Amino acid sequence: MIFSFPMKRLVLGLVVIPLLLLSNNISWAEDLLAIRIGQHPEKTRFVLELSEAPAYRVFTLPDPYRVVIDLPKLNWKVPQSDVPKPTGVVEALRFGLFEPEVSRLVLDAKHPVAISSVFLLPPKEGHRHRLVVDMIRVTDADYKASGEQQKQRASNPPLGSNTVVASKPPVPDLSAPTSPKKDKGRKIIVIDAGHGGVDPGATGVTGILEKTLALEYAQSLRDALEKSGRYSVVMTRDNDTTLALRQRVGIAQDANGDLFISLHANKHPSGTVKGISVYSLSENGSDKEAEALAAKENKADIIIGFDLSDQSPDVSKILIDLAQRETNNQGKQFANVLVGELKRETVLLGRPHRSAGFAVLKSPVIPSVLIELGYMSNREEEKILKSSKHRQKLVGAITRAVDEYFGKLETFNSQ
Ligand SMILES: [Zn+2]
Repeated sequence: MIFSFPMKRLVLGLVVIPLLLLSNNISWAEDLLAIRIGQHPEKTRFVLELSEAPAYRVFTLPDPYRVVIDLPKLNWKVPQSDVPKPTGVVEALRFGLFEPEVSRLVLDAKHPVAISSVFLLPPKEGHRHRLVVDMIRVTDADYKASGEQQKQRASNPPLGSNTVVASKPPVPDLSAPTSPKKDKGRKIIVIDAGHGGVDPGATGVTGILEKTLALEYAQSLRDALEKSGRYSVVMTRDNDTTLALRQRVGIAQDANGDLFISLHANKHPSGTVKGISVYSLSENGSDKEAEALAAKENKADIIIGFDLSDQSPDVSKILIDLAQRETNNQGKQFANVLVGELKRETVLLGRPHRSAGFAVLKSPVIPSVLIELGYMSNREEEKILKSSKHRQKLVGAITRAVDEYFGKLETFNSQ
């Protein structure tokens, strides 16, 4: 629920604003470059193309039915002739400045409508950042059933005058998976380079940033997996962009990923600690050290200004919990296989497979692991981490682990 914790959001906002003002990566007035609406068999897709990855919030309102998209102040760069004709559930499109710093787009709907997913896509193939909103027609009864939610949203006070707004994360729709066709049965591996943009992550002894190291490893891993011809790879980011943890999960879910691998590097007050470690999601508790690390990694969303409140609607919670349990087991299996391969190539941290509540591992449908590649606070290990030889070794080990994991699953499924 996006508006159920206004106090919490307010507090986060106060924490966040000074950090954002210090950063010159934030653009306060983004350019709206293009608008597209498409009708698909199972949904209406609305896409906004923007100069920067925006903060956003999306919700529905009744009487008349409509979908509201709030964004930071936009410079409208779309010629009138390029505004698409309404289609699907969308009957009309309106746009205006809602408040001094908030631009609002309203999509009037013919029928009761629900938002099936919302996510951001990073720049790719000539496109800039895209905010994608998928909508589906629902029955009056379904819409009314979520009435409480609607009321809360409608009565919520408008956004503050800053541009830091909460984003509604995509809620997985387990009842109706819209599975895009997979490329000749290739598994889809989602690679997530940790941090990025305004969130640099840890800093190494010689000044290298975790976000940079993570991206280098992510790109090498992508190349290796794609070269094998067995996998399609989706990157949550392929450049120095800012992404919320939930957006990363959203990208993975939208891509229908089969496996999610998040890459990070660690630091420790003691310069001697070193070694690689692999994390899977723990449902309830794990050791203190692992939780402290999870808390540190989860801070990314506070840094870049997203709401951390649990936003899963109650109705789908049980379904999600069930799916999550099975997915977690698979994530743990993969983590074990990974540790087996990595120990052939590099130094492991003590108890190398750990679990903790990392937000980025919380997809209920995609087995997910987080790899801390090593300690940038250890001079020797930082140097090794930067070498392409070491990178290739680790990438080779991860690739073998991916092969092994899917090999085992296949054997299991064919029995
Ligand atoms: Zn990290």
